[in-house]
Amino acid sequence: MCRHIYTESIEKSYYDQNLQCRAEKRVRTCILCGKTEKETIYVKDPPKRKLPKFIHEDLSDA
Ligand SMILES: [Zn+2]
Repeated sequence: MCRHIYTESIEKSYYDQNLQCRAEKRVRTCILCGKTEKETIYVKDPPKRKLPKFIHEDLSDA
């Protein structure tokens, strides 16, 4: 049995209009036996979040 040591490369990077997110087609190739696996990864952009407000306590009067 090959223990499969993969190198990964991005074959294609595109924007999926249906899912409204970026997609990457990645190909993993085993450096030992040459086995390849294809994988499509969807990269959701992180949702825009409001930054938490920093409450600045001024203790100079204490
Ligand atoms: Zn292998």
